[in-house]
Amino acid sequence: MEIYNTLTRKKEIFEPREDLPTGQAGKKVQMFVCGPTVYDYIHIGNARTFVIFDVVAKYLRYKGYEVNYIQNITDIDNKIIERAEKEGVDSLEYAKKYTEIFKEDMKTLGVTSPEYKNATDHIPEVIKQVQTLLGKGNAYVIDGDGIYFDLSTFSDYGKLSGRTALMADDAVSRIDDSNKKRNKGDFAIWKFKQHNDPSWSAPFGDGRPGWHIEDTAITEKYFGPQYDIHGGGQDLIFPHHEAEIAQQESASGLKPFVKYWMHTGFLVNKDEKMSKSLGNFMMLRKALEKWPKEALRFYLLSNNYRNSLDYSNKSIKAAQAAAQRIRELRNKTALIGSIDNLGGTLVGVAEKTEQLFVDAMDNDFNIPEALSALFNFIEIANKIFADKTIGKKDVMPIIKILNLYDTALGIVPHDTQYHDRPAEIQEIIDQRQKSRENRDYTMADQLRDKLKNLGYEVEDTAYGPLVTKK
Ligand code: AMP
Repeated sequence: MEIYNTLTRKKEIFEPREDLPTGQAGKKVQMFVCGPTVYDYIHIGNARTFVIFDVVAKYLRYKGYEVNYIQNITDIDNKIIERAEKEGVDSLEYAKKYTEIFKEDMKTLGVTSPEYKNATDHIPEVIKQVQTLLGKGNAYVIDGDGIYFDLSTFSDYGKLSGRTALMADDAVSRIDDSNKKRNKGDFAIWKFKQHNDPSWSAPFGDGRPGWHIEDTAITEKYFGPQYDIHGGGQDLIFPHHEAEIAQQESASGLKPFVKYWMHTGFLVNKDEKMSKSLGNFMMLRKALEKWPKEALRFYLLSNNYRNSLDYSNKSIKAAQAAAQRIRELRNKTALIGSIDNLGGTLVGVAEKTEQLFVDAMDNDFNIPEALSALFNFIEIANKIFADKTIGKKDVMPIIKILNLYDTALGIVPHDTQYHDRPAEIQEIIDQRQKSRENRDYTMADQLRDKLKNLGYEVEDTAYGPLVTKK
């Protein structure tokens, strides 16, 4: 398979660095993605990035790789301290609350692949890296301020982004300003204690970690100085990811720090990046109240991950309609299972669809192409369902394809299986069937409306009523 690597600016064959321990077949993948700064609820722009990497990890697992996927949580930061101060609460407690909220939202959205690691649980690892960088002459102290990385000691700075200066849309940390810095781009790796800010004791002076060093401290602990995949949104390429490279490659002397760098395009609202600071955002929690998680995931995955995705009600509604078509196919399996015809057309179609899915995903995770293979499959299944050539042998291929897309992309609605439909709903469905058999179509229509009001849509098919929850 191939992955587009921001570092080399081209698609490369994916070859993880390490085999599994002797005796075990296969390869392991170490993957790290920058998580949220927990000062508020996250928006659906952040969620786009997290859903995309959830799919990356799940697809790699489907391919047989043993994936160790870690995401950090920035729970110490200026924004957190300011918000907590405003509310008059302890900033570490404040961050804890939003860490939990973030994890709940991720669970609701079906993001289940990462293991989360909080920055404040890794202070000893941060201190160790700061000491190494000080010892090697890559960092220096500004009295009363903090410890800064000296960019003049790292000639590769800029190799990821192709630049050394800030641009609009770059995510920045506000702790790096000081007129005593040796070089303009130098960044804080440790900030000495100020006011009542949270701080930890360290041999070089009490304080707290800079933004960039929490990630390299965490990854060095769990992966070592080099690993396979590092991901995040495009706003993190510069300076955040450049800074991580400078820190880790200087600390260990080993290159490259990360083999494959992957970056997601922005979710944009009227051509502007969705962000808290611009106020043009939709909170994920609100979105999850409004739309089913499968529809939301479908929408967030509907454009190539490296391109931007437009925010609009219309496109989320289109994703909802797509998820509904998947749900209808799923519900049809219950009807097909009870008919006499053997069928079997879908056996070969499912095999071909799985191959198309793999080809698309192997091509730098081309999710839109993988989705189009699914809809071709649905179209064929619906056609043979309508012309009554479908049969028992077609049930397994449908389930196989739905499971495949569910496991890797998480876009298959799980509700309203035949067997778990509420008894009172089933009663109305049966009543309506009887009315139709008695040719009492007025009553049948009334019962259809009743079901509709209760949130169930009925379609009369050659094999009986197909009932789907809206
Ligand atoms: P933050 O909490 O701002 O550090 O963001 C957490 C993650 O969300 C990072 O990987 C960001 O790059 C990503 N992100 C932020 N805004 C957007 C957006 N509008 N679209 C896609 N990803 C975003």
